[in-house]
Amino acid sequence: MILILKHNAPQQELQALEAMLSEQGVQVTGIHGTHHNILGLVGDTSKIDIDSILAQPVVENVKRVQEPFKACNRKFHPEDTVVEVAGRKIGGGHVQVMAGPCSVENEDQIIEVAEAVKKAGATMLRGGAFKPRTSPYAFQGLHAEGIDLLKKAKAATGLPIVTEIMAIEHLDLFADVDLIQVGARNMQNFELLKALGHSDKPILLKRGLANTMEELLMSAEYIMAGGNMNVILCERGIRTFETKTRNTLDIAAVPLLKQLSHLPITVDPSHATGIPSLVKPLSLASIVCGTDALMIEVHNNPSKALSDGAQSLTPAQFAEVMDDVKKQIAFCGKELG
Ligand code: PEP
Ligand code: MN
Repeated sequence: MILILKHNAPQQELQALEAMLSEQGVQVTGIHGTHHNILGLVGDTSKIDIDSILAQPVVENVKRVQEPFKACNRKFHPEDTVVEVAGRKIGGGHVQVMAGPCSVENEDQIIEVAEAVKKAGATMLRGGAFKPRTSPYAFQGLHAEGIDLLKKAKAATGLPIVTEIMAIEHLDLFADVDLIQVGARNMQNFELLKALGHSDKPILLKRGLANTMEELLMSAEYIMAGGNMNVILCERGIRTFETKTRNTLDIAAVPLLKQLSHLPITVDPSHATGIPSLVKPLSLASIVCGTDALMIEVHNNPSKALSDGAQSLTPAQFAEVMDDVKKQIAFCGKELG
């Protein structure tokens, strides 16, 4: 971290600042020029609060050299992290495909979709039981019953299940869920992230609608700071000025997050675009960019779906996507499942 100090800052205040910084466990080196004084901080600066430094009357500006995220930073952990979900590896050359409906609606629906996506090659079943809907009048999910139905679908197909948590007080209901999803709208629900940091469940952390990559990594950091290192990042599109797609898939985030962090990454082309015909090309592009998993919405009857029907693939469309996804995974020298 580099601090640029105000011109003619009183010596006494400079010394007080240096002492305050040294107390925070970093090494402080001063460079004193004719017009400017600069302080260089070396060591672990992740706990230093930039705002409180800027609030010091002698400080003109501050520049971070080291990223504020530590546990998920590739610099301190060069090898890829491989997260195991019910015995299936995400990362390290394995690519998982999570597929299923936006919402779990009833037993026949989830079993039918689970069997169809498994047949097409999906390796995990997704389905929302707690749904974050824009309108309070829209279908909110079956809650505990939805999780029970996912468990039935798991028993019928053997597919591990992934579903979204929206509130800490529901955590007990997730005891048999294999991968807990934190949705885009909760990416910065810090109390929820802290609680999940104390859980031993793998967490799928989706990027917020308007959050930067650094904010996503800081949210991963919240979970990891509590001791839970099993975090998978998810790029699911961000809000931009474009209106042709539901969101804009930030495809550059895939290789860039991999450079910045050792955590595995998933891409969700369904929520990123809202358009079924874009799911295949963006799935293939995501594999080329190094994604470790895909999350794709599939419904047995999209026109009757209680949520996100318009972006859901039919089982037949999903099977067609999977044909090319399998080839692309093999072409990239990776393994499905
Ligand atoms: C979902 O996966 O159904 C969902 C609501 O996703 P997101 O949080 O990315 O909008
Ligand atoms: Mn959805």
